[in-house]
Amino acid sequence: MIASLRTMTYEELKNTLGKDERIAIWSCDTCAKSCDGFGGEESMKSLASQLRSDGFNVQKEELLVASCYFDGIRNRKEKWVSDGEYDEIDVIIPLACQEARVAMEKLLPDKRIIDDSRTAGLGMLDKNGVCILTDPFEWTGLDASDEGIDLKSAAKKLGMFTGPFQYDE
Ligand code: SF4
Repeated sequence: MIASLRTMTYEELKNTLGKDERIAIWSCDTCAKSCDGFGGEESMKSLASQLRSDGFNVQKEELLVASCYFDGIRNRKEKWVSDGEYDEIDVIIPLACQEARVAMEKLLPDKRIIDDSRTAGLGMLDKNGVCILTDPFEWTGLDASDEGIDLKSAAKKLGMFTGPFQYDE
């Protein structure tokens, strides 16, 4: 599975958004959810609620089992178009891996996709169902191991974050 780290804090995310922009949060319910809850329904609803209470215009929350899946993105796009919602969105916040962001950039070229995650490498689920990083990519400088490294430790070493966007970080 993909081991994703978050590249920005909630405050930094807010600074990339305009109060007049119409926002969609697009969340992956598979690997990204297992990355300490970066993705999934709970983090999506929590971020939507935080942003709304801070005065941002969150128009849409989209949960997809795998947000890297081109056909899945295409199908949701077609639904947005047929429901008359496509032109109502300016910016998308992916709670998903960077591969999902790249897929969104290709399939939704007129939307601004926030660059908020990096793929640290490949991982596996530990006994609690949480992703641990076993095969880090070279850029991380981390060592591969069967035991893996927890994502909080990996994020700390790389100056990044893990888990859902939250106020107090
Ligand atoms: S979008 Fe990324 S994080 Fe989600 S299932 Fe696909 S590869 Fe995994």
